[in-house]
Amino acid sequence: MPLIPAKEARPPLPRGPFLVVGLARSGQAAARLLAAHGERVRAVDSGHPEGAEGLSGSGVEVFLDTDGLAQLEGTHTVVKSPGVPREAAVIAAALERGMEVTGELELAWRALPNRFLAVTGTNGKTTTVELLGHIFRGAGEPVAVAGNVGVPLAGLVGELEPDATVVCEASSFQLEDASLFSPEGAVFLNLAPDHLDRHGSMPAYRDAKLRIFANQGNDDVAVWNGDDPELAGVDLGGCGRRIEFCRGASPDCEVATAAGTIFYDGEPLLEVSELGIPGEHNVENAMAAAAAALAFGLDREAVVAGLRSFAGVAHRLEPVAEIDGVRFVNDSKATNVASAAVGIGSFDAGVHAILGGSDKGEPFGALLAPLRERAAAAYLLGDTAARMAAELAPLGEAGVPMRRVADLEEAVRTAAAAAAPGEVVLLSPACASFDAFPNFEARGERFRQIVAALPGAGRG
Ligand code: ADP
Repeated sequence: MPLIPAKEARPPLPRGPFLVVGLARSGQAAARLLAAHGERVRAVDSGHPEGAEGLSGSGVEVFLDTDGLAQLEGTHTVVKSPGVPREAAVIAAALERGMEVTGELELAWRALPNRFLAVTGTNGKTTTVELLGHIFRGAGEPVAVAGNVGVPLAGLVGELEPDATVVCEASSFQLEDASLFSPEGAVFLNLAPDHLDRHGSMPAYRDAKLRIFANQGNDDVAVWNGDDPELAGVDLGGCGRRIEFCRGASPDCEVATAAGTIFYDGEPLLEVSELGIPGEHNVENAMAAAAAALAFGLDREAVVAGLRSFAGVAHRLEPVAEIDGVRFVNDSKATNVASAAVGIGSFDAGVHAILGGSDKGEPFGALLAPLRERAAAAYLLGDTAARMAAELAPLGEAGVPMRRVADLEEAVRTAAAAAAPGEVVLLSPACASFDAFPNFEARGERFRQIVAALPGAGRG
């Protein structure tokens, strides 16, 4: 069956001259894309991000360590990086002057003729786009995966054959800057409290994510999670064909999981136990990917084969080692409470949970239930340690000891010494890493190194 076609016409790029604000990975890629289209581009950053200076070689005028207000003069369109809030002085000033403010996702989509499959959700985006990429590759379909792992979307412009499918992550920060973005396929995985410091409220956060569906037409597909309470009764918007995935035998759901089997259109697709990635949350990611891949026209057999053989993504419940019967698992990407709760819940019992990091102000109470059920002990570190100790105090009464530790090394060593064969030492911190590391990848790497240096590591 041929894949659903890419829409024929894309809106042209917005009008220059451009000011790109924020020069991390995606800002740099956006600036290069525009310069390559012959546009006049200035680019600013309040700091000194790696690689930003090199943009001048591509014909971009670069201004570092500046708020960018002076560069607004003579600008027609501002390209805002996802990390820059709308309240930043330069963005607020641009909006006040009625200038167009857009983002890298929108620009790259306008510049690429390819069909798009975009994935949003609080948690699971990277896992699901990588899983989709794996399924497409296995089916022999050309595909490019863009997002947190690998290349930024704008980096694909001019590099891709036109019949390739672009599978991309779309965060709320990217979607809030997208005006006409209309992917042929859109997936909404889930919604849990996160980034409320930026979006202000859950409805505002949800509305930013719903922009993924807003401009879809009748020929597009809109995959959504029928079990998510935050989406229940919500108007999803747009005109895309709704495809629901859920648990249980609801006749409304094209893809459903019941009694350990994933069904498509009422017919068994595969057993949950055949999935290569662990945990209930990954069943949802697998259902979402299956729904999107099948709706795009991939063969059932190829979809099943891809679901079976996908081994997961680094730093997401990644098995790192087994030493004397104790498993060590790196879930450093669990940077919010919802993802740590599912991480802990992915194991039957005997979890030595390493928790804590920098403070986003999120309450930790939702960790109590999974920790009570599954944890042998909790090890608290980082800026949030004191607040966590207070909010998780009922664990003590439930017989789950909590220990404050100085750093990740002490946490891993103490947990390793306490863990019995069959138990799990799990880094699933529920917090960002910025109090002690440049990013979650560095925290996960450090976890791996500490584990590799434990007595008994590397044996067998
Ligand atoms: P994202 O790209 O949205 O941040 P990732 O795939 O990188 O998502 O996963 C982030 C964290 O969330 C990991 O700790 C992972 O185990 C957890 N996670 C993955 N999928 C889900 C899901 N569907 N629901 C809740 N948590 C999830």
